[in-house]
Amino acid sequence: MAAKATDPRRTRVLDVPVDVCPDVFEAALALLPRGGGQIVTLNAEMTMAALADPQLGAAIEAATLVIPDGAGVVWALGRQGLRVRRAPGIELAYRLLVHASTHGWRVALVGASPEVMERLRERLHRDLPALQLAFSVHGFQSTEAWPGLQQQLLDARPDLVLVALGVPRQETWIQHFQGRSGGLWMGVGGSFDVWAGVKTRAPRWMGALHIEWLYRLIQEPSRWRRMLALPAFAWAVLRHGVKRPPQY
Ligand code: UDP
Repeated sequence: MAAKATDPRRTRVLDVPVDVCPDVFEAALALLPRGGGQIVTLNAEMTMAALADPQLGAAIEAATLVIPDGAGVVWALGRQGLRVRRAPGIELAYRLLVHASTHGWRVALVGASPEVMERLRERLHRDLPALQLAFSVHGFQSTEAWPGLQQQLLDARPDLVLVALGVPRQETWIQHFQGRSGGLWMGVGGSFDVWAGVKTRAPRWMGALHIEWLYRLIQEPSRWRRMLALPAFAWAVLRHGVKRPPQY
């Protein structure tokens, strides 16, 4: 299919791909008639993880759409002269759910704790009663259960699959299905916990100050080690970011 003016332009941050597009929602919708694909929500932490983990790197490389989810990635793109708006994955995922409910899409949800998944089903039933939930399972299944569940997921022929298994597992897990199924497949991290009301998002003012990470750290202090990736990312961008010209 010929490229349109609104199609995403692929560039790189620290050698990890990211797509620049005027409207991530429109870009995601445009994938469906083209056979669907994997949507990755890139932030600084994931960029550093991808540099250290070849499997995650390959999943992001192969993804159909990589959106700039984090303030760090937006900052790094800015250093390349690319002005982009931050596109939080949780917001894109919810817009897709709303769209799914009004367009008769079949939806699958995979991941989070059993309690969170239970509450999420209730909330979606209340808030989006027309949503066709074709498949939903929590993310703490036994190793033996997964192959059967994966087949059930494919048999459900979903148009939209949201996967909350954490990084990098959700990205590599989704990649395994690419080419075997149409539909939009997206890793959503802790979004189910937020939608179920178990966790809260940082207040807007923290987002505006680019310190959402601090809110996350206060809510989940055990993340401190993972968050060391943030200064490492900033340092790497400052050292290398300008050496590599953007690739279009
Ligand atoms: N999770 C899961 N199975 C696991 C490990 C995690 O379903 O074996 C879920 C967890 O309950 C949470 C989501 O994966 O709902 C990942 O959340 P996190 O905030 O850690 O996301 P990340 O920051 O890794 O994207």
